[in-house]
Amino acid sequence: MVPIKWDPPTDREPVPKKSQIVIVANRLPFHRVRRGGTSEWATSPGGLVSALTPVLKNRTSCWIGWAGAAGAAPDPFEHEGIHNHPVRLSRDELETFYEGFCNRTLWPLYHDAVRTPEYRRRWWRPYVEVNRRFAEAAAGQVARGGTVWIHDYHLQLVPAIIRELRPDVRVGFFLHIPFPPQELFSQLPWRQPILAGLLGADVVGFQTRGGAQNFSRLCRRYAGAEGTRDELSFDGRTIHPGAYPVSIDVDRFEALAASEAVQRRTAEFRQRLGTDRKIILGVDRMDYTKGIDIRLHAYRGLLRSERITLDECVFVQVAVPSRERVEQYGELRSHVERLVGEINGEFGELGRTPIHYLHRSLPVEELVALYLAADVMLVTPLRDGMNLVAKEYVAARTDNTGVLVLSEFTGSAQELQSALLVNPHDIDGLEAALYTALHMPPREQQDRMKTLRRALRRNDVFHWANRFLDTLAA
Ligand code: UDP
Repeated sequence: MVPIKWDPPTDREPVPKKSQIVIVANRLPFHRVRRGGTSEWATSPGGLVSALTPVLKNRTSCWIGWAGAAGAAPDPFEHEGIHNHPVRLSRDELETFYEGFCNRTLWPLYHDAVRTPEYRRRWWRPYVEVNRRFAEAAAGQVARGGTVWIHDYHLQLVPAIIRELRPDVRVGFFLHIPFPPQELFSQLPWRQPILAGLLGADVVGFQTRGGAQNFSRLCRRYAGAEGTRDELSFDGRTIHPGAYPVSIDVDRFEALAASEAVQRRTAEFRQRLGTDRKIILGVDRMDYTKGIDIRLHAYRGLLRSERITLDECVFVQVAVPSRERVEQYGELRSHVERLVGEINGEFGELGRTPIHYLHRSLPVEELVALYLAADVMLVTPLRDGMNLVAKEYVAARTDNTGVLVLSEFTGSAQELQSALLVNPHDIDGLEAALYTALHMPPREQQDRMKTLRRALRRNDVFHWANRFLDTLAA
């Protein structure tokens, strides 16, 4: 290992005023946007920022992450009450660490190998180096006895490096994506150092109990840890793996759904799409884990067999551009766009389009207006750590109408059991579920949606963050 130039604090030499809590994530919560001739910091979308902002505001805190552009990092800056500490990534590291090891090795492997993971030796060293850089930045910022909370698959080595640099701090790690079973994880040539990296944390959080169980088993098998699913011992320390399903700011989505501007927009969408037609909605990043093509096949199947007609329904698919420099993502986009074109060509009529397809990111107000317009929400990933879109749809449906069709292979399915659960590999089953959703009586919709909303209320994002941090502090 490369020696680290950092002197641990001694009793005679107190650490200068530092952060009680340090968040370490691949991205900072803000990114640069151009407005007119200048650029400014804007809040990045996503639940993590809104979940952690209240936690951070009450204490001296700091967020360590990449600012989004290759090359030298901007100077540390304060924005919206958060102290941001950018970490640099070179152009080469963007390719080897981020696009390579993170998104061509770990991402497919951790998502059930729905695309073949690539094991390239030249990507490993940059992964180690970038992790070390993030860990050193965190070690330099955290106050004596403070807390470091590390997020996601990009930074799995950070816990152990921080432990080595700063044995005085509490270290938590949360994985936002699934953690795979032994049959898959054991393929990874670097399985042992990754497990040892994670074992540097005091609490290792996963989206599901299955993920925590996979981790504990693998640590016993390959890293020499001992213990149970909930408590491991390793290197003379106790580590607590556990399930902490991430969630959303339910109040915020309810408030957006109640706002006049959003409701006006919903009425506009309905008008444009046809007030007599049921609206089916899909909202995803353009990612091969999301099963976008599968749901298009199911929709086409129902149109072909004439079980549904265009007079009755219309499909809206929002696909947010994602990782476009990675080859498989470009291929997926072409595949999805060809399918949309085929279906529109085969079934469309003048003034009656089967699929409205938007390849862009929408602001949250537009998204909620679509959630309110949609009679059926189709969420069909082959594997997904959680899927927040499913939770957002439920949060927005304050009048208890609407039907959620949800893949069993999402983390959300564990909490949202009253959705119409589907196996996305079974296209006949998916067609049947979509048909059932389109014809579900209002009474059943209400019963299911009420139960879903109760489940969501039990675990919002603040509950999630507090539960994790309380366990870490215990
Ligand atoms: N989202 C957005 N604009 C869009 C589409 C999605 O802001 O046009 C947000 C959405 O509100 C959700 C997140 O992107 O919070 C997607 O999270 P999810 O867990 O569903 O999937 P991920 O992209 O993290 O795999």
